[in-house]
Amino acid sequence: MGCYHAPKWRAKELLTKNTNNLPTAAAPPPPPRVLVVGAGVGGLAAAIRLAADGAAVRVVEERSHVGGNLRQCAVPHPVRPSPAGGEDRPFRFDTGPTALALPYVFMDLFAAAGEDVRDHLPIVQIDPIVRYVWPDGMRFDFRADQRNLRDELTRLWPHDVDGFFRLLDDGRRFWAQLEPQIGMPHDADGAVQTVRRLVSLVRAGQGARFSRLLARRISSPRLREAINHFVGNVDASADRASRAAMLWIAHYHGLWHITGGMHRLAEQLERIARKLGVQIDTNRSPDMAGPDADVTVLATESGPPRESGGAVMLGIEGLCPQLVHHNVFFGEPDRPAIAVYAPTRTDSSLAPEGCETLVVRATLRGDQVVDILGTTGGLTDLRRRIVVTPQVRVEPSPRAMPGPRANAIVIPRPDLDSEDPALMAFSALRATSDLLPRRS
Ligand SMILES: Cc1cc2nc3c(=O)[nH]c(=O)nc-3n(C[C@H](O)[C@H](O)[C@H](O)COP(=O)(O)OP(=O)(O)OC[C@H]3O[C@@H](n4cnc5c(N)ncnc54)[C@H](O)[C@@H]3O)c2cc1C
Repeated sequence: MGCYHAPKWRAKELLTKNTNNLPTAAAPPPPPRVLVVGAGVGGLAAAIRLAADGAAVRVVEERSHVGGNLRQCAVPHPVRPSPAGGEDRPFRFDTGPTALALPYVFMDLFAAAGEDVRDHLPIVQIDPIVRYVWPDGMRFDFRADQRNLRDELTRLWPHDVDGFFRLLDDGRRFWAQLEPQIGMPHDADGAVQTVRRLVSLVRAGQGARFSRLLARRISSPRLREAINHFVGNVDASADRASRAAMLWIAHYHGLWHITGGMHRLAEQLERIARKLGVQIDTNRSPDMAGPDADVTVLATESGPPRESGGAVMLGIEGLCPQLVHHNVFFGEPDRPAIAVYAPTRTDSSLAPEGCETLVVRATLRGDQVVDILGTTGGLTDLRRRIVVTPQVRVEPSPRAMPGPRANAIVIPRPDLDSEDPALMAFSALRATSDLLPRRS
């Protein structure tokens, strides 16, 4: 969990302070100086909004790259000769987020900088959202389209179709309560507490845990298993409101792939920030930031990077039509599920011609993963088709905090009392709503 320290004064007041007290002299007051710590999606989004509002913004990032969790590594095909006239495409591995939720958040953000996101980040809807496969070969595609989803549920669990759509409707109602609060302007003194109180009330009045809601709505153990896996992946809180809302968000707003890879979001946010005059310094901790800032924004997600939780990256010769964009292979009772991200099923630009890029998240060793993909996944010849297996090094984070000179506005992890809704859109929303009033 992050924390929230009360600023000495409200950021908005700070940003308007000088302009309210304009001296009669012609010289305009200097813009407020903002130091943003952390150049992940949250930090870059905050920097863009603040710079668009006239602040002089500097971002310090302790790592050598911007984007935070958004990272990509590119590995060339080791043996294939380059086609005449240029190099073959490399394998591109996105090692962080695999899908964009709530794309309108980024549309708003780009619009704040006077740009149309569609000109810079083409997105493709992911369908099926996830494919779930059990060891006996049973397969459930969580389809994006409502009619296809209903057909799929009717084929597998006809008695749970109504319950599933009721669960989605629960999510819709929870999201209707949560969404305005996430985007609303608030400051450390009052509104965050108000939001927390409201959310607590909502939750207290409706019971706490998602598992109980799920048990009431769905009777099939396998459908419950699939839903639990899905919501657990995007929201670690176990809270019924946010988990049901996540299910609704995925169904209603869709999950999206950014053509060229998720990492392009970070590239584009950096480009816009620099265009607005934001100074971005990598390999810097806040105590190396130089002169005092008027406001310091901490956009530093806490906790160890999850890449260390086990990602096996595989560049595969030939195509894998058995896979879709997101796949989950459930194990026998004593074996954990493995999640296989195969973005080349949606976007062939992420691998050399006729190849696939796979990122497998599992708590298993690489050889065990390949065995499971061979048996449960039907990729029997996978082992001999692997051409690259890059290892991504995660730079250690010294977790330095800013010096005492700054009046710090601490942006917590993107949560509302929950622990880890893994949504970049939330980072982008919260980072800015802590500082600026919502745009109409
Ligand atoms: C494996 C994985 C898969 C995910 N999948 C998805 C997904 O599919 N869809 C989705 O929407 N979300 C997903 N998420 C979550 C998403 O990545 C996060 O919600 C989002 O990236 C958080 O952005 P952030 O800017 O808040 O934090 P971060 O991305 O963590 O950025 C924080 C930055 O601050 C820097 N920093 C920290 N401390 C300091 C310091 N003291 N000084 C200077 N710099 C500092 C860090 O180096 C980092 O660059 C996933 C996350 C992971 C790890």
